[in-house]
Amino acid sequence: MNWGLIGASNIAAGHMIAALRATGGRIGWVMSGNADHAASYAAEHGIPGHGTDLGNLLQDPEITAVYISSTNEKHHAQALAAIAAGKHVLCEKPLSMTVAEAVEMVRAAEAAGVTFATNHHLRNAGTHLAIREAVQAGRIGTPLSVRVHHAVYLPQVLQGWRIDNPAAGGGVIPDITVHDADTVRFHLGEDPVEVVAMATASGLGQGVEDSCMSVWSMPSGVQVMSHESFTHAHATTGFEIHGTDGSIVAKNVMTQQPVGEVVLTTAKGSETLSYSTHNLYERSLGLFNAACAGEGRPSADGVDGVKSLAVAMAVAEAARTGRRTPVNYGGI
Ligand code: NDP
Repeated sequence: MNWGLIGASNIAAGHMIAALRATGGRIGWVMSGNADHAASYAAEHGIPGHGTDLGNLLQDPEITAVYISSTNEKHHAQALAAIAAGKHVLCEKPLSMTVAEAVEMVRAAEAAGVTFATNHHLRNAGTHLAIREAVQAGRIGTPLSVRVHHAVYLPQVLQGWRIDNPAAGGGVIPDITVHDADTVRFHLGEDPVEVVAMATASGLGQGVEDSCMSVWSMPSGVQVMSHESFTHAHATTGFEIHGTDGSIVAKNVMTQQPVGEVVLTTAKGSETLSYSTHNLYERSLGLFNAACAGEGRPSADGVDGVKSLAVAMAVAEAARTGRRTPVNYGGI
């Protein structure tokens, strides 16, 4: 795969460039809104092509796929342009600023016959794969509830548009609630129906929420509670799923690293589950590359990206209105 990077981002520098190369990819281009930034980023990461013109990147016939990690409001137009140019697209979450735009992206990729995926990393973690396997094997019986603990401290380097720019998609709901929605859907295999929520700014958010708590109802009757924040310097993350015959309590697993602890407790006692420590992003890319070659499906496809965004949008609306809010999946 020969990749073009749309967005000269932290996530690409910190995780994706290495993962793209580790999965056999070459990186031919990086495009940014700022020419100097594009040039210095390209030099730092050994990328031959750089610039501010998306058309130049997309016209390069050598480029077979693009990875979009610009700020959130740019994803929609950039993805549609890449799809129109016949490129496969791996797009960062949230797919877009509205569910309708995200649906349009997915439909455009289907019509063009290119692979379109969402970079939800958590469902690629060995910890989450172990949790899912245990749940599917019936080890907790029938699921009753899920608790997601995803309150962290936003690193200084990321305290830019996320904390003060709603037009760029800032706020903890588009940033972290989308990941939690995807992870819950991955484990339960069903989509939230309606939500209640409260959000606040507790130290970092300026014009956007930096903390949110919400409760979601699932079609099966499972209840989900989810907590996201940018302001918790000393909290640990976690994912818990409780069932009629057992509980899984996983600590430090809402993370980009292959770490954490997963403990299953039943009437027989407690057991620490083993898991694979592979790189999350490399697994996602391996499945993406295979899907582009016509084998299998991406880890999180475009429909998954639409659905995680739809849940996050419903949480945002519920927090804004104070009302119980149905999740609108945009007909997908
Ligand atoms: P960054 O703030 O690092 O970069 C986003 C964009 O901001 C860049 O593409 C660039 O815009 C602009 N920018 C950043 N630094 C500079 C600079 N020094 N000079 C000029 N412009 C600059 O974003 P993140 O990496 O934090 O996030 C990017 C996307 O990835 C978001 O959609 C986010 O939600 C997602 N993300 C996903 C993660 C995951 O694990 N799946 C983790 C982290 C982020 P432009 O190129 O348009 O000029």
